Amino acid sequence: MGKIIDGKAIAAGLYDKMLQEVDQMEQQYGRRPGLTVIIVGEDPASQVYVRNKEKAAKKIGLVSQVVRLPEETTQDKLLTVIKQLNADPTVDGILVQLPVPKHIDKDAVIAAVSPEKDVDGFFGMKSGFTMKQGYVAPCTPRACIYLIKAIGETIEGRHALVVGRGELVGKPVATLLLNENATVTIAHSRTRNLGEIARTADILIAAVGKPRMIAADMVKPGAVVLDVGVSRDAEGKICGDVDFEAAKDVAGWITPVPGGVGPMTIAMLIRNTLDCYLKHVNG
Ligand code: NAP
Repeated sequence: MGKIIDGKAIAAGLYDKMLQEVDQMEQQYGRRPGLTVIIVGEDPASQVYVRNKEKAAKKIGLVSQVVRLPEETTQDKLLTVIKQLNADPTVDGILVQLPVPKHIDKDAVIAAVSPEKDVDGFFGMKSGFTMKQGYVAPCTPRACIYLIKAIGETIEGRHALVVGRGELVGKPVATLLLNENATVTIAHSRTRNLGEIARTADILIAAVGKPRMIAADMVKPGAVVLDVGVSRDAEGKICGDVDFEAAKDVAGWITPVPGGVGPMTIAMLIRNTLDCYLKHVNG
């Protein structure tokens, strides 16, 4: 049976390290890193995500702030708020919780955030599908790489399959794997013979959002399987893209859903904030 990758425990280890780092930062530079999250409207899922991010930021002792704006906020008003935060020297990271209401152009909002404060990593990701040096990578893709390294697995030279080519996870995680010298295949909804390709993957990252679409017989024995997908099955139970119960007997390592990539993603938001802070204070 494969080993379960405990995302909560690995994230807890990273939080411990960051807690100490933040204390040292305050001693050295005279202030703690600042993270501001902006949320527009009342979307219940977004409210939960923002609360979790705020909790993580407080736990680490960041100067954390949530700007809550009403649903009817105009795009101009939101852009003005972002501009003010861009100019605020105590704010190192800015995150606009998506989705924004339909009357607001998401791309204009993302583009308005200063690249140096873009803790969601959109800027690096948007710049021609290569991570621009010096800007942080998006949180979930970065979390995937962190998890693989945390369990002591090698990335270089191995065949990594990313299922899904979304802008938030699939594409950027494929880029990060390539940067780590994996041989990368990206599969998507038009891919033929997914099972055949998947069975050759030493590392399999599923980022689709379809309940248990990766069956156990698609997993190479001993492979590292990271399940990014989060959806609900016919019974309403939260599950991932991988048939965890069956695949855990084939994989070498596998993340559960929930409790795998999810907790690590929030820890990476904090890591990204610390990295933006360091860049900020070091000029
Ligand atoms: P997305 O942008 O909609 O991308 C989904 C991708 O899946 C698309 O590239 C699509 O292919 C591909 N796809 C659909 N059906 C497929 C099939 N049958 N075979 C192979 N590929 C298929 O979604 P996303 O934003 O990347 O999110 C993906 C999942 O990750 C969602 O469940 C989301 O909730 C979850 N997520 C989790 C976290 C976390 O922290 N755990 C963070 C972010 C997202 P085409 O491009 O051909 O349409």
